[in-house]
Amino acid sequence: MRIGVNWGSLDQDLLARLMDQNTSAALPLTTAAIMHEAILQSALDSAQQAEAIGLEPGRIVLSCKMSGVQDLIVIYRALAQRCNYALHLGLTEAGMGTKGIVASTAALAILLQEGIGDTIRISLTPEPGGTRIQEVIVAQDILQSLGLRNFAPSVTACPGCGRTTSSAFQTLARHVQDHIRAALPNWRTLYPGVETLKVAVMGCIVNGPGESKHANIGISLPGTGEQPAAPVYIDGRKITTLKSANIAEEFTAILDNYVRNHYTTPSPNNSE
Ligand code: SF4
Repeated sequence: MRIGVNWGSLDQDLLARLMDQNTSAALPLTTAAIMHEAILQSALDSAQQAEAIGLEPGRIVLSCKMSGVQDLIVIYRALAQRCNYALHLGLTEAGMGTKGIVASTAALAILLQEGIGDTIRISLTPEPGGTRIQEVIVAQDILQSLGLRNFAPSVTACPGCGRTTSSAFQTLARHVQDHIRAALPNWRTLYPGVETLKVAVMGCIVNGPGESKHANIGISLPGTGEQPAAPVYIDGRKITTLKSANIAEEFTAILDNYVRNHYTTPSPNNSE
């Protein structure tokens, strides 16, 4: 059961009591520190009351809704020190678009990296008429970026620079990403573990092959002034060079083949 405290609707009696105590303290704390303490005490008191009426501690998940990144980090570090309850992380009212994504990621990444947090939620203000699917995608991307969970194969694409004036690698990266997204529901069923697959799509053959070698499958498209050839690497070894006008289709065919050969389960019922 989730037990939560919201920064915006904090127990005002508790806060007033702590403020009064602080006034007469030898070394008074800052107002922010008192607010943090009030949130902590409110959350911990609520959990203890729940235990007192019979809820098992292992079924309690504590949540403190904060909208400030630094506040969230301070509160959860303290919670992790002061209790053993499971902790639910989420920056509330994070905002819209990039601002909300960056703020949520900044807060959760720090805590998760410290081993704090058992469940997470991303709260983004959707665009008018938009859906909440973005919240799930961001949550999954945070966990996957930190290496805590794998939800889908990752596609590393170079940002592009002066070594290439071509947008071909951007188009190919999008093509590969779309191909994986479309195939993933089937792949998940047929090829367990495919979520760990790493693909690299790079923009030149100066720096591209190095990155490609670190992926399961990588391709380096020709940069400015380079031969019109795209070397493909599989598990660190160059296996072919694509030169035709259908590089995207040829590369995704190699990708499909890799998935088929590397993630097939031994189950006799597993067939494509
Ligand atoms: S791979 Fe090549 S084109 Fe892409 S960012 Fe690196 S140097 Fe630039």
